[in-house]
Amino acid sequence: MKPSSRNKNTILTAALALLMLGAFETQAQQAPTFTRQDTLRGSITPERAWWDLSYYHLNIQVNPADSTIKGMNTIQYKVLEPYQVMQLDLQPPMQMKKVVQNGKQLQVTQDGNAYFVKLEVPQKTGALNKLEVYYGGKPQISVNPPWSGGITWKRDERGNPFVASSNQGDGASLWWPCKDHMYDEPDSMLISVAVPKGLTNVSNGRQRKVEENKDGTSTFHWFVSNPINNYGVNINIGDYVHFGEKYQGEKGMLDCDYWVLRDKLEKAKAHFKDVPRTMQALEHWFGPYPFYEDSYKLVEVPYLGMEHQSSVTYGNGYQNGYRGRDLSGTGWGLKFDFIIIHETGHEWFANNITYKDVADMWIHESFTAYSESLFLDYHYGTLAGNEYTIGKRKTIRNDRPIIGYYDVNHSGSGDMYNKGANMLHTLRQIVNDDEKFRGILRGLNKDFYHQTVTTQQIEGYLAEHTGRDLTRFFDQYLRDTRIPVLEYRQDKKNLSYRWTNVVADFEMPVKVYLNGKATWLEPGTDWKVLKKVKAGTTLKIDSNFYVQEAKKLES
Ligand SMILES: [Zn+2]
Repeated sequence: MKPSSRNKNTILTAALALLMLGAFETQAQQAPTFTRQDTLRGSITPERAWWDLSYYHLNIQVNPADSTIKGMNTIQYKVLEPYQVMQLDLQPPMQMKKVVQNGKQLQVTQDGNAYFVKLEVPQKTGALNKLEVYYGGKPQISVNPPWSGGITWKRDERGNPFVASSNQGDGASLWWPCKDHMYDEPDSMLISVAVPKGLTNVSNGRQRKVEENKDGTSTFHWFVSNPINNYGVNINIGDYVHFGEKYQGEKGMLDCDYWVLRDKLEKAKAHFKDVPRTMQALEHWFGPYPFYEDSYKLVEVPYLGMEHQSSVTYGNGYQNGYRGRDLSGTGWGLKFDFIIIHETGHEWFANNITYKDVADMWIHESFTAYSESLFLDYHYGTLAGNEYTIGKRKTIRNDRPIIGYYDVNHSGSGDMYNKGANMLHTLRQIVNDDEKFRGILRGLNKDFYHQTVTTQQIEGYLAEHTGRDLTRFFDQYLRDTRIPVLEYRQDKKNLSYRWTNVVADFEMPVKVYLNGKATWLEPGTDWKVLKKVKAGTTLKIDSNFYVQEAKKLES
């Protein structure tokens, strides 16, 4: 998912907080309230925990004329422990029509967005079972894709239907029935989509075949041979034309396929040259593209874009920057198409390594926001990447922590993008060895290959491989909104220094310039002393560290 323009609610909340007296100011910071529906959606309920997804076959008809979707999802699963009730999710106004196992219709109880299916056949540990879910209706229309979930029903400039799904956060169950929690992914998936003849549907993975039906529709079958997260599954329907190229990458020949609207072909052929450049840079930093078997695709859509696995969607208007703007204000952001680089970066952090709980969404967005800098670093040099990362600090709000609330489908602050990128940039300074840092990024993608993870796993990995206790570091940047201040004072030849505005026992090495000469300090929250410094020494912190300006105290 992409950084959104400033959230209206946040502005409103901030404005209200300002109107109120000081005593009430903290109200905006109070924990949000959650409902039973949030828990059903966001937690691994007992009705989810007992079965492990192995395969989905989503088989649907999409009708742009009346904005409906109908069809079925075959769900294959492995029984982990015996249990007779299964939770499936589907959000109104979509309706579950019936659930069938072994030819027999099952009893289903609806509780809001969740359906509880009573299984009749005893579910034995280790068994591989399946059932079919029939459903249909008019799915929610996205009012602000991709930030609000749903289907976008539009028409291209020639009047042809131009339709796409996007549903991160709100959930895939907006338009198809599934186990709508991120911890579990099917090992593979077949997506069959029937659309009116003349239109093309592009989904994830590789196109297996196209069937012409007697009812005036064509069915496009797309097969994904790798685990895929719910929100990564997508449909894109339009008057598409295709072109492609082969990229000689780290793991062999990668098929890169591009699906764009008919009249955008020439533009796209010129503009998508950023794709091989992206692969070059990101394979260097992150390791092999994680889905060679499923190919890489860029698919034009009627909204900005989204990291759909192996079918990255694109709607940035064939221009560089983020909708033509440089988010960093340094000029470097206009050297590349933000959506191509950012959404492709997610193939490593989001699709290869996937959060279990959306509260840990920084794992997707912080690394991916930083991938923009790593792209610049690779093609234009480290200084370019540094300037870009530092430039994006002006978008940081420090309004609430980056990590959200667990088990209720709640994500943290939008700071997970650019503050997160600056946190990783700061960590890279601490490592102070770019080859080692690159090895860690590649190691993450290798060791957590195709896995869903928690923040503890990622924080632990980074600590282990940097050889540092990073507990307080992550508490500071992910779980607190304060930005460290280095206080110092000079008393004759002694220079004392410490961190303030930090979590308890915070410690972090920092590179400073004393009278212009680079020196490393290891400050904690207690005063430390550097002896034998010249009188009137100036101290400046290396600007690559995301901390506040050093504060000189009078001695
Ligand atoms: Zn993103």
